[in-house]
Amino acid sequence: MSKTTSLTPIINQAIALYGGTFDPIHYGHLRPVEALSRLIGLKEVVWLPNNIPPHRPQPEASSQQRLEMVRLAIQPFRSFRVDTREIEKAAPSYSIETLSDFRKEIGNKQSLAFIIGQDSLLSINTWHKWEELLDVCHLLVCARPGYQTTFSSKEMQSWLEQHQTTQYEDIHRLPAGKVFLADTPLYNISATDIRARHKAGLNCHDLLPTAVEDYINQQQLYL
Ligand code: ATP
Repeated sequence: MSKTTSLTPIINQAIALYGGTFDPIHYGHLRPVEALSRLIGLKEVVWLPNNIPPHRPQPEASSQQRLEMVRLAIQPFRSFRVDTREIEKAAPSYSIETLSDFRKEIGNKQSLAFIIGQDSLLSINTWHKWEELLDVCHLLVCARPGYQTTFSSKEMQSWLEQHQTTQYEDIHRLPAGKVFLADTPLYNISATDIRARHKAGLNCHDLLPTAVEDYINQQQLYL
């Protein structure tokens, strides 16, 4: 007779989206997400390079080049895939719109999460319709060195405390509505720094995958 196991299988495993400019994608993106995915058991991580980021100067690499770098970087990971909807859109890519599109596609019961870094969490109240985000998804926050772990605004800190969970099972159990601060490893890496190092002729071997660095050299990016 087969033995029963005391482990409860995760039925509604969360799908996570990870948006960014990825100019270029680097280990500060990949390694925390890999760790997070292992830590909480994500069904799939959908990488979403954006086209016209509303909050920042335009990227140096073209949309196609940033997309190609994401493809090269995530190729070794079975549960990672890229989605081109934001890159293909001519209008600004607001996360709330993309997340709502996904929500429509997957229905109301499937758990959906949006992965962001700690720096993004701290400025979340500047995002378009930010107060609607938790109606549509959870937020999974990766630690990032050099950023406070609490909000300086009392209002935002109480918003966080109201929605925060320390139980990752909540992310799978509920379709949306929670913020999980993940204890992911810290990588002091930024795309800005990589572009500056490349311009200065310094190598970036430990900062991003070799396939991405080779592509940057081949396309003569960030000179
Ligand atoms: P740039 O230096 O050009 O501003 P970036 O390295 O911050 O770029 P983005 O593509 O703007 O990268 O970031 C996409 C997402 O990745 C954001 O949510 C950001 O918080 C997160 N992120 C970027 N770098 C790190 C890192 N080193 N550790 C944790 N999260 C990070």
